[in-house]
Amino acid sequence: MTPNTYIPDTFIEDVKSYLPAHLTLDDYIKTCQSPLRPAVRVNTQKMTIDQFKKYAEINNWQIEQVPWCDAGFWVSRPDEQQALSIGNTDIHLSGAIYSQEASSMMPVSALTFNQDITDCHVLDMAAAPGSKTSQIANAQSNTGVLVANEYSSSRLKSLSANMQRLGIANVALSHFDASIFGDYMETCFDHILLDAPCSGEGTIRKDPDALKNWSVESNQDIANVQKSLIESAFYALKPGGTLVYSTCTLTPLENQDVCRHLLNTFADCITIEPLDNLFPGAEKIVTDEGYLHVWPQIFDTEGFFVAKFKKQAHVANPNIKTKKGRFPFVAYSKKQTELFFRELDSQFGIRSLPGSLMMRDKELWLFPDCFDALSEKIKYSRIGIQVATIHKNGFRLCHEFATCFAHLAQKNTYQLSISEAMSYFKGQDIKLSINPNSKGEVILMLCETGIGLGKWQQSKIKNNLPRSLIKNNQLITWE
Ligand code: SAM
Repeated sequence: MTPNTYIPDTFIEDVKSYLPAHLTLDDYIKTCQSPLRPAVRVNTQKMTIDQFKKYAEINNWQIEQVPWCDAGFWVSRPDEQQALSIGNTDIHLSGAIYSQEASSMMPVSALTFNQDITDCHVLDMAAAPGSKTSQIANAQSNTGVLVANEYSSSRLKSLSANMQRLGIANVALSHFDASIFGDYMETCFDHILLDAPCSGEGTIRKDPDALKNWSVESNQDIANVQKSLIESAFYALKPGGTLVYSTCTLTPLENQDVCRHLLNTFADCITIEPLDNLFPGAEKIVTDEGYLHVWPQIFDTEGFFVAKFKKQAHVANPNIKTKKGRFPFVAYSKKQTELFFRELDSQFGIRSLPGSLMMRDKELWLFPDCFDALSEKIKYSRIGIQVATIHKNGFRLCHEFATCFAHLAQKNTYQLSISEAMSYFKGQDIKLSINPNSKGEVILMLCETGIGLGKWQQSKIKNNLPRSLIKNNQLITWE
């Protein structure tokens, strides 16, 4: 919250009506008036937590562990580095970390608490820009399938770009009002996250305009949307599966009341999974029902709400629908697949990739394993990653092949220096001091992880960064 933060008196009156007795309004307001601590989450698909700690030490970053997320850290950087945003540091550009407010790491920690979600079918119903999608994907270790849905077209684009930077290959993106999932994908998912659209009351430390359109009436309107989404989530969940419902708002209208609606609608077929043991300290924020209600003053974060449920029994959806239209991909033939891997083996020493190769026109895509069961249910905006374009004389690899699979390469990788990385992100070729006598494509690395492709050309590497990803702002150094 800044001096310009808009806080209507009616909002304060409302907060007073549900603030727990052991908390004070003064503490709440005082915390909201202090700056929010920056936090990041390590993208464990690209970097280990130990590697991140080493990076932090070398770069004089002070880090503090987020208690509910092993890969989450509050970060404090020296004054001289402040001219460069975290988003423009080498470690962020490489996709090895994601800037994410600490309390927003809690829903996925709840989803993965005491259960292994590798090889599962998971749905993220309201996913953009993808902080929790990438956190779920990390927990899946690029196995199973994660359907990430977003209703807003512009936000779907940022979700897609983030998945590309972070090297996530097991995600299928879709673009619907998430209330359709229960009708089209009944009992398809082992686990579901509904990080619901909400009034955002918990975000005023970051966004001074968060309460600009605030009113109890709009809370009620949003709650009606949330109730339809949580019903849809119930139907889309397999019996025995788990559902996490979260918001970044404080009002019980959009939190406890929405959960009560779920429990009343499906009576004995859904039960609460209490979160009081999620992490040491969770008892400070647990509600009587077993939900977590994060007031900003407790852990010096934003406000958040997290609830977890288990589906105990099937309830038939009276409104089942089926998709019309043809699936536009065909499986890549065995012979062609062998040719593709012969090329990958000769250039990079890679003999297999996790997933199934599929073809659409001249595009070669890699779908997540076990996607078949979901493929005909809805129309997807993107499934897995495009690995290559097929040409008369072979294949041209795509950028995402490098961001996702650089770690598998045995040869033809090149570690960029700071100045070379700056040239790369600006779209320039990389000049080499000697001619390495290499040919073909090369995977470019930064912070020990793949960031894109180039082509060896005598004493330079030709830049193959997609034009849409070129950046011209200050990058990597603060001087
Ligand atoms: N889970 C995201 C993350 O961690 O990065 C944040 C999601 S944000 C709280 C809620 C998202 O829901 C917004 O991106 C919004 O555009 C989207 N949304 C709004 N109405 C929706 C609907 N009916 N169905 C699906 N998504 C919706």
